[in-house]
Amino acid sequence: MSSRYLFFSLCVVFCTSVVFAQKTFTEKFSKMGSSFEVIVVAKNKEVADGFIAMAKNYNRIENLISSWDSNSETSKINQNAGVKPVKVSKELWDLIERSQKLSQLTSGAFDISYAAVDKIWTFDGGDSELPAEAVLKRSVAKIGYKKIRLNQKDQTVFLSQAGMKIGFGAIGKGYAADRAKETLVAAGASGGIINASGDMNTWGTQADGSDWNVAIVNPLNSKKVFSWFSIEQQAVVTSGDYERFTTIAGERYSHIIDPRTGMPAKGILSCTIFAPKAELADALATATFVMGTTAGIFLINQLPKVEAIIIDAMGRIHTSKNIKIEDD
Ligand code: AMP
Ligand code: MG
Repeated sequence: MSSRYLFFSLCVVFCTSVVFAQKTFTEKFSKMGSSFEVIVVAKNKEVADGFIAMAKNYNRIENLISSWDSNSETSKINQNAGVKPVKVSKELWDLIERSQKLSQLTSGAFDISYAAVDKIWTFDGGDSELPAEAVLKRSVAKIGYKKIRLNQKDQTVFLSQAGMKIGFGAIGKGYAADRAKETLVAAGASGGIINASGDMNTWGTQADGSDWNVAIVNPLNSKKVFSWFSIEQQAVVTSGDYERFTTIAGERYSHIIDPRTGMPAKGILSCTIFAPKAELADALATATFVMGTTAGIFLINQLPKVEAIIIDAMGRIHTSKNIKIEDD
């Protein structure tokens, strides 16, 4: 064996053992009304705790997008609907601009102004009967992403009609997961998963060098896993009808609203999207849930590096073109 080859081999053994000396650390906590989990690869607990503390710093995002905190920037925008433009931080302004682009991309199926119907659907067990047609019509008239006026120069947002409201329930957790991942990558964490109530964003590899495996929940029994996927540098987000719903006259109505009708979307049990970013995956999971199987898969097949698995109300599985699920 040549000395150069021996040196190279020793380097490989040394570097591999340094990488493999890393361990995986996990912490679960509650934020923004949801459960979060951070899994991070680090050389010891002290370093991992530092990474986890950084990932937990969601307060800043909550101050921007919370609908229940009346002092958040989002609440200020809503309080001034039909009254006046509100100056906001660049971070929120940019998120709203990206949300509008996602509305365009999804033909309005994803629309943060869906929240005008928040007042008629609570999904907390308080919905005892379907809203009257006239009430629905009045609320739907206030929905429409084109009525959110953005002024870039002044960095303002104006909901141009009284009674309009925006809410980030369909994109906020994905956005938060992306920001947490960015922070940890910048801080030097070699691998990890940010799991924001099932909205997952991964990077790097596990401590032993293998890809991360993520579980997709079985929508027919949310305590069971439907399938495991090995993923690399990707986000996986699921929208499911089991997450929040209300039952009226024996029928289940899920928390995802069709902005055209103000009624909960029907026909899909769960929609899982794989994409490079959790924000995109989050918005598209909600949008495809509204669009339905055919239009949803058609849209996903047009988008680079985005894939979908939809389980329809009959329990049938539909996938975008690069996903193959083998029956066992
Ligand atoms: P997700 O679990 O990401 O699909 O988000 C669902 C949440 O997004 C709901 O609980 C609502 O807060 C909000 N939402 C419901 N319908 C829509 C819609 N069509 N577009 C945007 N957000 C929505
Ligand atoms: Mg979503």
